[in-house]
Amino acid sequence: MTFRQKHLLGIEPLHPTEITTLLDLADSYADQNRRGIQHKDVLAGLTQINMFFENSTRTQASFELAGKRLGADVMNMGMQASSIKKGETLIDTALTLNAMHPDLLVVRHPHSGAVDLLAQKVNCAVLNAGDGRHEHPTQALLDALTIRRAKGRLHRLSIAICGDIAHSRVARSNIMLLGKMENRIRLIGPPTLMPSGIGAFGVEVFEDMAEGLKDVDVVMMLRLQKERMDGGFIPSEREYFHRYGLDAAKLRHAKPDAIVMHPGPMNRGVEIDGNIADDINRSVIQEQVEMGVAVRMAAMEVLAQNLRSARGPQGVMA
Ligand code: ASP
Repeated sequence: MTFRQKHLLGIEPLHPTEITTLLDLADSYADQNRRGIQHKDVLAGLTQINMFFENSTRTQASFELAGKRLGADVMNMGMQASSIKKGETLIDTALTLNAMHPDLLVVRHPHSGAVDLLAQKVNCAVLNAGDGRHEHPTQALLDALTIRRAKGRLHRLSIAICGDIAHSRVARSNIMLLGKMENRIRLIGPPTLMPSGIGAFGVEVFEDMAEGLKDVDVVMMLRLQKERMDGGFIPSEREYFHRYGLDAAKLRHAKPDAIVMHPGPMNRGVEIDGNIADDINRSVIQEQVEMGVAVRMAAMEVLAQNLRSARGPQGVMA
C-alpha cells in the first residue's frame, strides 16, 4: 500500500500515488456498498470520534456511516452545546480527547488551521472534515472518484470550478488534487469572489461563464458561502444567478457530455438551476454523495493501518 500519512489534513501533502491508492480502494468499496457487502472487521476494536464545530449534513452522516460499515465504535460529540462554548481552548479539548483514547478523530472547524493544530496534540489519526476556507480533503477525493467513474480517467480533463472560489475550501482542495493529477483547471466567477494570487496555482481565470465553460468536460458549481462573507460580494442573488447561475443555456457551452457537480448544500436558483441539478443525464450530484461514504471508508482504513503499525503489537505508540 502506498499511503504514508499519519493524518488526512489536506490534499496539499499528498503524492499522486497516495491519491490513487485512496481512490482505488474507495472504488472497490463503492461497488461493494452497492452489493450490501459488510466489512465489520476493518475497524473492529477502534473508536472513532466525530467532532463538528460547524454544521454539517452530508459529511458528518457519511463519516458516521463509513465508520459503522467498517465496524468502528462511532461517537458524535455535539460541539454546538459543548464546553467550547463555555470557553474551553482547543488544547484543553485535545487533552480531554487523549484521556478518552480515540483511534480516529474526524474534525470540522470554522477556523483554517485548527484541525492541524489539534492533530499535533492528540495521540490518534485525525481526518480533516473541513477547516475554514482552507481544505476539505475528503470532498476533493470523492469529487475525483466521481469524475474518474463518469469519465473513465482522472487526467487531461478540462474542469471548470465556478462561483465563490474565495471562500471555498472545496475549491482549494479540488484545485490541488486535480492539478496534481494533470488536469486543466478553469476558475470562473466575479472578481470579488476570486482569491488574489490564484494565478500562481496554474489555473486559468474567467469572469464570463460562456467563455470559461467552452468545451469543458466537468462543470463544478460552488455554493455562495454567505457565512464567510463580511460584506457585499455580489449585487443581488438574482443578478448573480443571471450571470453565474448554471442553467441550460450556459451549460450548452460545455462539451455535450459534460457532467455537472455540486458539493452541497445547494442553493437552487442562486448558483444552479434546479432542473439542471435534477437532470440525471448531466448531474452526478447524487453519485458524489454515494462516493463520499466509499472515500471515507478508504481514508479511515489506510489511516487505521498506519496507526496500527506505528503502535506495534502491544498497541502503544513507539
Ligand atoms: N459542504 C461543503 C463544505 O463544507 C460545501 C459547502 O458548504 O458549500 O465546505
